[in-house]
Amino acid sequence: MAQSYPIYGQIDGPIVMIGFGSIGRGTWPLIERHFEYDADRFTVIEPDQSSHNFLRQHRLNFVDTALTRENYREVLGGLLEPGKGFVVNLSVDTSSLDLMKFCREMEVLYIDTVVEPWEGFYFETQSNAERTNYALRQAVRDEKASNPGGTTAVSCCGANPGMVSWFVKEGLLTLAKDSGADATPPATRDGWARLMQTLGVKGVHIAERDTQARRQPRPRNVFVNTWSVEGFIAEGFQPAELGWGTHETWFPENAHRYDVGCQSAIWLDRPGAITRVHSWCPTPGPQFGFLVTHNEAVSISDYYTVGDPGAPDYRPTCHYAYHPCDDAVLSLHEMFGSGCQQKIHEILDVEEIVEGIDELGVLLYGHAKNALWFGSRLSSEETRALAPYQNATGLQVTSAVLAGMVWALENPQAGIVETDEMDHARCLEVQRPYLGPVEAHYTDWTPLQDRWQHFSEDIDESDPWQFRNVLAS
Ligand code: NAD
Repeated sequence: MAQSYPIYGQIDGPIVMIGFGSIGRGTWPLIERHFEYDADRFTVIEPDQSSHNFLRQHRLNFVDTALTRENYREVLGGLLEPGKGFVVNLSVDTSSLDLMKFCREMEVLYIDTVVEPWEGFYFETQSNAERTNYALRQAVRDEKASNPGGTTAVSCCGANPGMVSWFVKEGLLTLAKDSGADATPPATRDGWARLMQTLGVKGVHIAERDTQARRQPRPRNVFVNTWSVEGFIAEGFQPAELGWGTHETWFPENAHRYDVGCQSAIWLDRPGAITRVHSWCPTPGPQFGFLVTHNEAVSISDYYTVGDPGAPDYRPTCHYAYHPCDDAVLSLHEMFGSGCQQKIHEILDVEEIVEGIDELGVLLYGHAKNALWFGSRLSSEETRALAPYQNATGLQVTSAVLAGMVWALENPQAGIVETDEMDHARCLEVQRPYLGPVEAHYTDWTPLQDRWQHFSEDIDESDPWQFRNVLAS
């Protein structure tokens, strides 16, 4: 008997999916499963020939065009109907800000998984400060401030950024309960920030270990990853960025602050994908992660700020600590070592993956119980049984897109929102069936443990959770 799935709502009018790469291909079957809509009015905008056979085989309408600054109003305008439908932006090289503004003008719901710029931004922008996610995000926040309310546009609703913001809230409630504190979910942003402050959380790692692997060893000169290679290279070459907490007593020599915007973050004069940090995940225990810049590092530290943003009473440090799949680690090593991007890109297909999980969670650290990791430990094997056309990394992203779409349909006039600002319980309710085991793990590990004793390091033994100790020399 065919399995039945909950229908979360009806989407009237056209659905336009921009980009049909690893995430688009995995999101489409979830949309098909969980919404009522007119399949004849589902259209994909996708310029890459390699996706066209799949689109044809599955009888999906598509437009063979790359959206550009010059054509997006005409191409999208030709497909959309004012006041109806949904734009699901899962592409690279398109401006999330321009697209979301246009959708809101048309009163069409919008969602994306990253604040993406038009092609050229990442490598042609000269100033490193302007190449940051801080700058990209701030432009969206400024648009929200100038045009509050209106049609809902959900910004950055993938796994991270996205789902991890819901995990931070669920992790805080778990920690509150386990610490004997009041575990009633706060009703306001300020309430959440004060809960984090009261629990004594100094910071948050978005702590990920991807162990997915195929049987074939990585060929030389091929960049292998479990999601967009183009997206990963672009963000890996951006400067490392992190939300900068009030407990930090040291300031990195190569770091820069901002005097405009929310001021929650700093950036380092060094690419994120070669900036290593000490972190922890349940499967490996202690591990190196890369401090790759991500929107959520800025948004989470902003959301949980107590007091004046320029001189806060409290703010957590927050950053990504990403151990991608082993093939991606080797690919990065080769790319940065040679100074050349590999021309061949491969995304591990769920059918060729023979082992591994994507373990993605938040490590809330520095409190009375030391550190709590809360997250999803989704295996490749489970993924195959749960949904087609994607690996575990993909499913953590696409199920967040699904949850964000459900929330937007239920809250169609919420304006521009980030996932920190959404109802995390409702979103996780929708997403959880696709996440495998979602678990809380306490650990007594700190960044001062498991260090090699033979060489002196620039560490601060008075507070294990200083960023100075987290940053690997
Ligand atoms: P991908 O590289 O597999 O696919 C991107 C697709 O966009 C490609 O098919 C490409 O042809 C298409 N595209 C490129 N330029 C375009 C244009 N101008 N107009 C329309 N389409 C265009 O990437 P992916 O793994 O599917 O990721 C898609 C997006 O999701 C990326 O921006 C990525 O950074 C983001 N992402 C977010 C998360 C998260 O957790 N938040 C995780 C993974 C990916």
